[in-house]
Amino acid sequence: MDHFLYKNGALHAEDVPLSCIAAQVGTPVYVYSAATLTRHFGLFRQALDWTDHLVCFAVKSNSNLAVLKLMGDLGAGMDVVSAGEYLRAKAAGVPGDRIVFSGVGKTLAEMRLAIEGGIRQFNIESEPEMRALSQLAASMGATVPVAIRVNPDVDAKTHEKIATGKSENKFGIPISRAIEVYAEAARLPGLEVVGVDVHIGSQLTDLAPFRAAYRKVAELTGALRAEGHQITRLDLGGGLGIPYRRDNNAPPLPIEYGQVIREAVGHLDCEIEIEPGRNIVGNAGVLLAEVIYVKQGEDRDFLIVDAAMNDLLRPAMYGAHHDIVPVIEPGLGAAVHPYDVVGPVCESGDTFQKAAQLPQMEAGGLIAFRSAGAYGAVMASEYNSRPLVPEVLVQGDHFAVIRARPTFDEMLARDSIPPWL
Ligand SMILES: *Cc1c(COP(=O)(O)O)cnc(C)c1O
Repeated sequence: MDHFLYKNGALHAEDVPLSCIAAQVGTPVYVYSAATLTRHFGLFRQALDWTDHLVCFAVKSNSNLAVLKLMGDLGAGMDVVSAGEYLRAKAAGVPGDRIVFSGVGKTLAEMRLAIEGGIRQFNIESEPEMRALSQLAASMGATVPVAIRVNPDVDAKTHEKIATGKSENKFGIPISRAIEVYAEAARLPGLEVVGVDVHIGSQLTDLAPFRAAYRKVAELTGALRAEGHQITRLDLGGGLGIPYRRDNNAPPLPIEYGQVIREAVGHLDCEIEIEPGRNIVGNAGVLLAEVIYVKQGEDRDFLIVDAAMNDLLRPAMYGAHHDIVPVIEPGLGAAVHPYDVVGPVCESGDTFQKAAQLPQMEAGGLIAFRSAGAYGAVMASEYNSRPLVPEVLVQGDHFAVIRARPTFDEMLARDSIPPWL
């Protein structure tokens, strides 16, 4: 459930009509609902209330400082994958001991920054990284908590570009070699082994792959303890999917996901960390756009809108679907018309949806791309020199711009022409 509903014939974010935001901020613009974010975070917390836990928001899904502040104030930890994300989490007021550092290619500079600023744990993804972190931490006179990310070789049955738990993926160490790698970790200076980490992919719509992966983690935990390792924490990653289409089977709920965790690893008496991103923020955001032209093609009509692939990349990158809805509620039984909804960017890939069923639209009409809160604004670029898309956060009957649209002057000022030209 989210808080984007029609009220009095107009689509609202909570109590704010989206048309008001379009009028004041312009389009395209991302709009997030604080109530939806709060609700989704609460569902994960509730799903794990049977044990000690920390819900670490996956910052890469939406890294706006206001979103991070809201999550952090609710008690969320943060899962970061770069120095930039680490600094964003800190700037949003999240203490280092609630920040987990994941990612396959952490540089020495990134690891140093996190050690100096405070860190809950590094999730180690390879032996070279483990040795580099050990050397760095020891040279700084520090001992850092680590979990090792294992690759359980489980098929997450999701889009190939966001599956991470198969042996052919670049993530983690093969679970078959874990005992050996943990033995080395225990011998290395500067590292304190605290847990096991796993993350098998994103937009999972079935619990079975989670169950399979978590059972393997449980088995490994037993084996590691038998070897004398103190495993007190399990980081079970993110990845629970969301319904991108209103009309089909909804993915499992956080409470059901929490039950799978309990069944697989509950007996181990570990503190549980999870790293949901998409499930918290995906349906807490829409991308609002305006129709520039309705163009009649030979065999179809195009809705050319002022949002494009540079603002919302998922359809072009993953063939992803976002429900598109009109901001003015269509009357009961109003005729629908198929439109190919496209952006102005000079690529045929800049197509959001073919034959979207919408009421008759006109230039100046507003539409909303639903489920756009995760992996939307964070992937935006200025391709075609379109200013970076702004973001707005709604809470109740008020809203704030949480990232302003740059002016053309600001955009141009970031480049410089060398004196010898
Ligand atoms: C991307 C990622 C997540 C978040 O995945 P969602 O599908 O957004 O929940 C969590 N942990 C790691 C290590 C990731 O790479």
